[in-house]
Amino acid sequence: MKDPRICRIQQKIGVPADGIIGPRTLEALSKALGLPDIPQWPTQAEVRRGTSMFGKPGEESALVSLVPPYSLLYEGNALRSIRVHRLVATHVQEALREVLAHYGSERIHTLGLDLYGGSYNYRSTAGGRSLSMHAWGIALDFAPESNSYALKKPRATLSSPECDAWWQIWESHGAVSLGRARNYDWMHLQFARLD
Ligand SMILES: [Zn+2]
Repeated sequence: MKDPRICRIQQKIGVPADGIIGPRTLEALSKALGLPDIPQWPTQAEVRRGTSMFGKPGEESALVSLVPPYSLLYEGNALRSIRVHRLVATHVQEALREVLAHYGSERIHTLGLDLYGGSYNYRSTAGGRSLSMHAWGIALDFAPESNSYALKKPRATLSSPECDAWWQIWESHGAVSLGRARNYDWMHLQFARLD
């Protein structure tokens, strides 16, 4: 049965009133609410081929430094800046700004969202068979000590319900959490879709 509330919303935003929230309705709804588009990043396989927008692995000239909007600690030391691929830099900056606005510095610290585990690193995945998205500077790790590779929900601290907003913010920038998608490596997020 058609939900009259959905039909009414569809009439209001100018899409066919079929009562089903499909991609067209969602897009028009997001536009009507003034929400920015969620970027569609390449897949991991495309990135690994080296022909995606992110170029070849290990290209340090593609990296830029950005000053995080709140203090990040790396192995106990406060960082002045972090280095990521230039094509994801504004998204990283904006996501961290939204995290600060949502949680405030005190909760950020309590939840460990200020514990940085690094971004660019020319290395293979933990499995060792292919290059990690870190080799392009398009992956970032947070709270690594309490979210080690094999740690699953609910033991991984970033899997707690309190961190839902943290992940939703990254996902609204098109980033993927391996924890949310596959329930491992909860420290890790990347600007590449899973294959
Ligand atoms: Zn990682």
